[in-house]
Amino acid sequence: MTKPKRENIPEPTKQEISFPDTIFCGGRPFTVDDLPELSKSEGTLGLCDIRAGKVYIDECLDVALTLKTLWHEALHIAQNDFLGDVSEEQSRWGSLFVHQFLIENPAIVQIYQQLHVSGNEAAE
Ligand SMILES: [Zn+2]
Repeated sequence: MTKPKRENIPEPTKQEISFPDTIFCGGRPFTVDDLPELSKSEGTLGLCDIRAGKVYIDECLDVALTLKTLWHEALHIAQNDFLGDVSEEQSRWGSLFVHQFLIENPAIVQIYQQLHVSGNEAAE
């Protein structure tokens, strides 16, 4: 996958971004922790334990790969909730699609931020 080039705007580093300790998927909280070393050694970037309400992301990943991996794990949670099963292939293309869509449409992200601030998302 090629990254879109953003002239003169350096990507933020992990130190400049505060990732949440908890994300919400389907109205449920999931704690976000570093991936266990064994999984890192196997080349895994992220995991989710849906029953335990935990998402694990390798802390060594850069910001963009952390976000894509978060989307990947969130899609697994949605697949489990809606389909009763998970698909690696669907999560792989879905996470890349959503990530790229949000990168390419910052105005949409701003609208979501305004919804969050106003609390309108709870009305849906
Ligand atoms: Zn997966």
